[in-house]
Amino acid sequence: QTIQPVYNFNAGPSALPSSVLEKAQQELLNFRGTGMSVMELSHRSSTYEEVHNNAITRLKTLFSIPENYEVLFLQGGASLQFSMIPMNFLQKGQKAAYVNTGVWAEKAFTEAKLLGDPYEAASSKEGNHRFIPNINDLQYNQGDAYIHITSNNTIYGTQWRDFPDTGDVPLIADMSSDIMSKPIDISKFAMIYAGAQKNLGPSGVTVVIIRKDMIEKANPNVPTILKYSTHYKNNSLFNTPPTFGIYMLGEVLGWIEEKGGLQTLAKQNEEKAKLIYDAIDESNGFYVGHAEPESRSLMNITFKLADQELEKKFLEEAKQGGFVGINGYRTVGGCRASTYNAVPVEACKALSEIMIQFQKNN
Ligand code: PLP
Repeated sequence: QTIQPVYNFNAGPSALPSSVLEKAQQELLNFRGTGMSVMELSHRSSTYEEVHNNAITRLKTLFSIPENYEVLFLQGGASLQFSMIPMNFLQKGQKAAYVNTGVWAEKAFTEAKLLGDPYEAASSKEGNHRFIPNINDLQYNQGDAYIHITSNNTIYGTQWRDFPDTGDVPLIADMSSDIMSKPIDISKFAMIYAGAQKNLGPSGVTVVIIRKDMIEKANPNVPTILKYSTHYKNNSLFNTPPTFGIYMLGEVLGWIEEKGGLQTLAKQNEEKAKLIYDAIDESNGFYVGHAEPESRSLMNITFKLADQELEKKFLEEAKQGGFVGINGYRTVGGCRASTYNAVPVEACKALSEIMIQFQKNN
């Protein structure tokens, strides 16, 4: 059976490097001579533990994570972090600040409201989340339990360019849709979390990078499995971890290493996004970008066609041409191209070319 090649612009789960998938296929039935799949190994076996620790070490090295942080592999998606964060860190009598930059940011805020007393430090809601608030305009107070931000807004296509220095107030970021797409200064953050399924691997693993003092000062009255300390003490092996996902994550990190690390990826991600933004900007209003130019995401490029009928035709033609995942988020509409780490430059070039060609034809 011949397989039609596709250009995968899915927002999540998303494209994986084809070399990683091929390696996983080769190793699927006989992992490193065990005669078993990596999925069939005991999570207490030394063979699996090597896979597990290798993924942690690679992540620490590639992302330049300082010594006073730990990497945890959890389950429940980024969504469970929306609850675990206030459970662990929002103490009685304290407040927490949330920056509302879109649907996911709001979901995090909503969970915190169930558990304590959070408030909005800034919002981009007016104007339909087209921008990232200025880092100097964030309203939060010394003594707050933490300030929570969403570094990349998957649905609206906006991304923080730089991050505030929040001093003694711990800065916590949901980096689900741009983690490891570029180097960042980890020391600005008390905690970073991300579902792996966009930039790092398949769904099922949530990466948490946490400063150790946060673990120590967390609320003790939390169910055992929902405490960060439980997973820290057990090297993320408290209960059965998603072993296949962690194996895949380690392999994706190996692929990032081979490519030359995050500097190289960052350059490539800029180049990829530019191809598509240029097609929008040079279209004389035929394509209309959603985000304000200075807040544009390099991971999720959101736009619509000025003519709604033509938009339907464009999406249909793109689909016929093998472009997958170009439809905007179900409640937002329009078009969205997610250009995560594993999406090749060629796919972005092909998309910009069909955009230009479609405009010429119509
Ligand atoms: N945060 C952001 C920024 C996201 O884009 C998503 C999913 O797309 C989530 C959180 C939810 O992640 P999960 O499905 O892993 O719970």
